[in-house]
Amino acid sequence: MIIAVDGPAGAGKSTVAKILAKQLGFLYIDTGAMYRALTLKALENDVPAGDEQNIIRLACAVKIELRNNADGSLSVILDGRDVSLDIRKPLITQFVSDVAKIKEVRQVLVKMQRELGSRGDCVLDGRDIGTVVFPGAQKKFFIDASAKERINRRFKELKGLGQDVSEDDVAGDLSNRDKIDSTRKNSPLRKAPDAIYIDTTDLSIEQVVGKMLGFLK
Ligand code: C5P
Repeated sequence: MIIAVDGPAGAGKSTVAKILAKQLGFLYIDTGAMYRALTLKALENDVPAGDEQNIIRLACAVKIELRNNADGSLSVILDGRDVSLDIRKPLITQFVSDVAKIKEVRQVLVKMQRELGSRGDCVLDGRDIGTVVFPGAQKKFFIDASAKERINRRFKELKGLGQDVSEDDVAGDLSNRDKIDSTRKNSPLRKAPDAIYIDTTDLSIEQVVGKMLGFLK
């Protein structure tokens, strides 16, 4: 069974998708982490996000592994190296949407995501899971929250990771990525017509997971 979880940045979809996967005993696939890992590889190779040809070349050669750990956390392995923390750094966040809008990059990563998803029951989170990656997913959710709440959640999350960010930085990042992700030509962020919309603004994590489990019954 495939469960698709889409939505804008900071809505909490990774958090709830991860918990849901653990509770159901499903594999959790964080597709955003894959775009982030490729962005890290590009920056480490001094390839700017605008250099599409070289980014595509890197995408074709990259090895990205997602390891579901026993404690419910996810390790992101780039070419054999654990980059789980590196991919959350502000520089990656700043450029990831420019890398993710390249058509050929999406073709390569979507192929990887379909391969991962075909291994068994899984929960995938991203922007285009229910619309493009697995349009035939048995259950689709679109997780949303007000801009204010998304900024607040992402700010707390980054502070928790020890990052020196201001709320203004986070607001700027979210509005920049929202704009690029929802207006790009290739696979823009959209709610699939058959996805269940959940506004999580006033809900706790447990309440959101509870609602999702309720819809799955
Ligand atoms: O989910 P996360 O915020 O980590 O994703 C980082 C970026 O990766 C998004 O802002 C978006 O540009 C891109 N992305 C995407 N398609 C996905 C998942 C993420 O374009 N399925």
